[in-house]
Amino acid sequence: MERFAYHLPMVILVLLGCTSQDTNPREAMVFRDVNVLSMENEAVLSGQTVVIIEDMIHEIGSFQEIQPVGGATVIDATGMYLMPGLAEMHAHVPPGDSPPRDQVEDILFLYIANGVTTIRGMLGSDYQIPLAQEIERGDVLGPTFYVAAPSLSRTSAADMASAERLVREHKSAGYHLQKIHPGVPIEVWDHMASISKEIDLTFGGHVPADVGLVHAIETGISTVDHLDGYVQAVVSDDVVSQINTGRPINLQGLVSSVDESKINEIVQLSLENDVYVVPTLYLWENLYGITDPSAFLMQPEMKYVSAAQREVWRRQAAAGPRDSPDVLEEFFDLRKRILKALSDAGVGILMGTDSPQMFNVPGFALHRELELVGESGMSNYEILRSGTSSVARYVSNHLGLDGNFGTIAPGQRADLVLLGSNPLEDLSNLTDRIGVMVRGRWLPRTEIDEGLSALAHKHSLGN
Ligand SMILES: [Zn+2]
Repeated sequence: MERFAYHLPMVILVLLGCTSQDTNPREAMVFRDVNVLSMENEAVLSGQTVVIIEDMIHEIGSFQEIQPVGGATVIDATGMYLMPGLAEMHAHVPPGDSPPRDQVEDILFLYIANGVTTIRGMLGSDYQIPLAQEIERGDVLGPTFYVAAPSLSRTSAADMASAERLVREHKSAGYHLQKIHPGVPIEVWDHMASISKEIDLTFGGHVPADVGLVHAIETGISTVDHLDGYVQAVVSDDVVSQINTGRPINLQGLVSSVDESKINEIVQLSLENDVYVVPTLYLWENLYGITDPSAFLMQPEMKYVSAAQREVWRRQAAAGPRDSPDVLEEFFDLRKRILKALSDAGVGILMGTDSPQMFNVPGFALHRELELVGESGMSNYEILRSGTSSVARYVSNHLGLDGNFGTIAPGQRADLVLLGSNPLEDLSNLTDRIGVMVRGRWLPRTEIDEGLSALAHKHSLGN
């Protein structure tokens, strides 16, 4: 890094809203001679200079065209790749009224350390709204945080009046969306959906069995997480009536009765209604099929979570898979086929893991999820889009907020990852990080590694 003498041109001062008397330069940073993967399309632009002023991307152009901004910190990024930071769209930040602050900040840091600069927390509590604001102001280091409200479920929303009271309260408290859990009865759902529309609070998460995927989509669910309901939506009519009459059906019965024509029907319905899907493949495969928990506990990222958390996972997994390896493979394969069909048709896919469930270490799990999503046949570009530009589209279309991130363009939030190699060629290059920028704050690899070591040390002491 080096520093240039500072001469901010008047035009920039005007753009920044400074007065002509304002001689205090605003903090600037330049990535020089970098390969830019803007995520506006699949192209990689080589030899670019990207100028960041405070927390925004200010200018991008060829290395020769852009004059160095005086006073800026310059990173010579020759041969490196700059892309937007990733998003985790099914995160869990610790629940409860006031969980230990260090636990919350450790999780936020794990996201940043893994290049995740946006999260959607899928089970809110009251402390999380001010926390999201602290992050936005830069008082706390963390990814931009969209906060789902405490969930509507069989218990919290047993009747229409309770559901209505909750969604109205959640809207006025400032939550960004309403989380749904299983068990909401259909009449309560319909009432919730109409009130949510009236007060402009979108909802997403699980699809209650009583509601079913088709009805959930038609009444406005904005994200279907875990591919909930999609397998049930593509099985034969016989199996559907068996499910509807309450007779149990096992996994084998489900996967062996797929009606291929129904895949296209549900894909089209999803597309027409601008539904987004958060597949959480890695979580689902862990929930159904871990034969050897000890192998998971050997994963390098396990040192960043507490011994107590590891023990919870070990016990959850100890029961082992309920189904035969063949049936499980067919089931996982079906989920991937549905995902690929959704993606091919243009349905918005969003990256997410449900960390910290079942061996999902926040941040690290997202990279394990990408490997599995890759097995569906989605291209690397499509997968990267699910963690960047598609997320911004979801935020503006459904949360009604400014989706000024997820691409590299002037005016976008400076949430970036600098990589040593091209992630389009191999998604594992996403871990070849030179550094992460979050809201214009640059964290070089050394600083990230120090933070991770400190966290590993803390947990090695039994904290
Ligand atoms: Zn969850």
